[in-house]
Amino acid sequence: MKESVKGFTSRIIHHDREEGFADGPVHAPIYNSVPYGYATTEALEAVFQGKATGQSYARQSTPTTDSLQSMINQAEDGLGTLVFASGMAALTATFFALLKAGDHVIVSRYLFGNTHSFLASLCEFGVEVSFVDATIADDVQAALQDNTRLVFVETIANPGTQVADLEAIGLWCEKQKLIFFVDNTITSPYMFNPKRVKASLVINSLSKYFSGHGNVLGGSVTDTGMYDWSIFPNIFEAYRKGSADKWALTQIKKKSLRDMGGALSSDSAYQIALGAETMALRMDRACSNARQLAELLEEHSKVERVYYPGLKSHPQHTQASKWFRHFGGILSFDLARGYSCATLLNDIGLVINATHLGDNRTLALPMATTIFFEMGAKNRAALGISDQMIRCSVGIEDPDDLLGAFAGALDRLAAL
Ligand SMILES: *Cc1c(COP(=O)(O)O)cnc(C)c1O
Repeated sequence: MKESVKGFTSRIIHHDREEGFADGPVHAPIYNSVPYGYATTEALEAVFQGKATGQSYARQSTPTTDSLQSMINQAEDGLGTLVFASGMAALTATFFALLKAGDHVIVSRYLFGNTHSFLASLCEFGVEVSFVDATIADDVQAALQDNTRLVFVETIANPGTQVADLEAIGLWCEKQKLIFFVDNTITSPYMFNPKRVKASLVINSLSKYFSGHGNVLGGSVTDTGMYDWSIFPNIFEAYRKGSADKWALTQIKKKSLRDMGGALSSDSAYQIALGAETMALRMDRACSNARQLAELLEEHSKVERVYYPGLKSHPQHTQASKWFRHFGGILSFDLARGYSCATLLNDIGLVINATHLGDNRTLALPMATTIFFEMGAKNRAALGISDQMIRCSVGIEDPDDLLGAFAGALDRLAAL
């Protein structure tokens, strides 16, 4: 392109103009072939040996997934990106590819439930895991050991909306030569660029705000180029070739994508790329709705407490204001004691009783009786999840409809 294009949406929607698909399709074509053939054996050999770029087998990549990777890479300002079948596939792939028994990792205690569960399983493979309060950088630093390899945090945790002390942790990781691994799912690359706080690796669940319509699963990991892989002891000899920039991604691609197989299909990659074109528009609306809803709930006598980084009462409001474009579409609140969460939610017609987040529709559910039921009351209390907590993933409905629906149902709600 002749003009320099800087805006987030301009870059996303025009990212593939240079890719040169045959016949000039405006959307990246969906390549559903699993194998890729070559005119000569030598050409195939060159691809296998990494001497030429090209496709070999859809478990590693296709032209459609490559196109999505380049879109995400631009959105995250990365050096390279890999896509996977889901956010969990991206996350587990990265941990398994880069760690080995005897390593230690420091992770936030406030994590997506399945990530928490995975990290607990990782301990069974001989990796030590310290769960810390990542809203306090001192807590992270106090967990340092000789064998610490990386620090992993989410930007805004759900359901409690705790914001990790991203800036201080990033600076400290740089000093300690630790990988700083950030889950950017809840903020999305539109709201926050983790590279600005020196994150080395960034994971996104593409199933959430990135694709945005609740119709497709996907995940990605981006190498921001902030980490010097030449000093990382766990890179296999076979991948210590050429510039160290790509060593980690090559290892993740070979050891995880190729060997473990959590590959994204071309169909899904197409859906994600299509959804991503409106990420900024959707998030502007969802975040504005969430902020207004948070303010309404905070004022209401039948609500005990609201968890939303956009409120002045939020403990990390200052950090969130400094680093994030908006405050997100996720909010939680504790309904006052003596009122039933189920009665309230059943009475809000506009809101769907569903888990998931980042959909265009507002979704809500009580926490203690669903996602956090399995862990029991004691663990819930340790995570600050009360029996009265409701999580909302605020959608893009017209604000008057949404606010009216909540206000009406709260006003009608009778004490038990
Ligand atoms: C949903 C989610 C994941 C997992 O993503 P999937 O695509 O559902 O596998 C990981 N991290 C966070 C913060 C999430 O919200």
